[in-house]
Amino acid sequence: MSSSTVDLHSHSTSSDGGHAPSFVVELAATRGVEVLALTDHDTLQGIAEAQATGVEHGVHVVAGIELSAKYSAGQCHLLAWLPSPVPEAFCAWTRSREVDRERRAEEMVRRLNEQGFTIAWDDVRARAAGNLGRPHVADTLIAAGHCTDRSDAFERLIGRGCSAYVGSGKIDPEAAIEQAVAAGALVSLAHPYTLELEGQPLSDFVGRLVDAGLGALEAHRGDQDEARQAEYCALAERHGLLVSAGSDFHALDLEGGPRGKRKLGRIGVPGLSPEARERLLSRLPGVPASLVR
Ligand code: AMP
Ligand code: FE
Ligand code: FE
Ligand code: ZN
Repeated sequence: MSSSTVDLHSHSTSSDGGHAPSFVVELAATRGVEVLALTDHDTLQGIAEAQATGVEHGVHVVAGIELSAKYSAGQCHLLAWLPSPVPEAFCAWTRSREVDRERRAEEMVRRLNEQGFTIAWDDVRARAAGNLGRPHVADTLIAAGHCTDRSDAFERLIGRGCSAYVGSGKIDPEAAIEQAVAAGALVSLAHPYTLELEGQPLSDFVGRLVDAGLGALEAHRGDQDEARQAEYCALAERHGLLVSAGSDFHALDLEGGPRGKRKLGRIGVPGLSPEARERLLSRLPGVPASLVR
C-alpha cells in the first residue's frame, strides 16, 4: 500500500493553487500527512503561513519552491526543499523569479490583446493573491467570454506552441539547481514526463542535472502509474538519486476533474517504499529524527 504520510509537492494561492497556505496545511492534517512541502511556483510567499499552521496542526511543513527552468521542448520544473529559516540570499533570488513571472504574464496579456482577445492586465493581476501563472490568465479569458474553460484557453491560446504562449523560466536548470543547493536545498526533478524525453536522451539530461547538484527525482505521484514509477525509480538508481513523492495538489475542485489525480496526500501506488521514505526524509533539510524513522 502507498504511504500517505509524505507529500512533498503542493500549491496554494501563493501561486496557482486554489486555497490559502493555511487551508492546504489543515487539509493535509485531515488526510494524515505528517510531512508536507508547500512548493509554489517560483515563490516562497506562502511558507511562513503554512509553517505556522503546521505547528498548530501537527504537520511538519518543509519550506519548498517549484522552480521553472529554461527548457526548449516540454517543461522543466525543479522542486527545491530548503532549510528553515530559508537563507536570505535565496529569498532575495526568488524575488527576481517573481518579477520574471510578472513580466511573462504581462507579455502574454499584450499578445492576447494584440490578437483581439481583449483582457485587462488589472483583471489578471487581481486574480492572483501571490505569484502569477497561466491559470490566472486562463480564468480572465473565461470571465471575458473568450474561452469556455481552462482547457480551452490552454489548447487555443496559452498552451505551448499557441499564439499567446510565452515560456516560463528564464534561468538554466543547472543555474537554478546551483542556487538552491548553495542555500542548503535538496533538489528534485518534478514530473519528469513533462520533459518529453524517453530512454537515453532522458537519462543524459538527468545526468547533466546531477552534475549540477540534482539530488532526487519525482518518481511517485498520484498521476504516475506503477510502470512509470518503476521506470523512474530505476532511472534514479542509475544516477544515484533519491526518489521523491508528491501530489502536485492545486485545488479541491480539481481533485475530481480531468487533472483529478492530483489529490493532496496522494502519491501513487505503490508509492514510496519504507526504505526510500527514510532515505528521503533523512536528506530533507530540517526533518526531525522522530519523523524520519
Ligand atoms: P505556468 O507555471 O504559468 O506555466 O502555468 C502552468 C500551470 O498551469 C500548471 O502548473 C497547471 O497548474 C496549469 N495547467 C497547465 N496545463 C493546463 C491545462 N491544459 N489545463 C488546465 N491547467 C493547466
Ligand atoms: Fe501549477
Ligand atoms: Fe510543475
Ligand atoms: Zn507543481
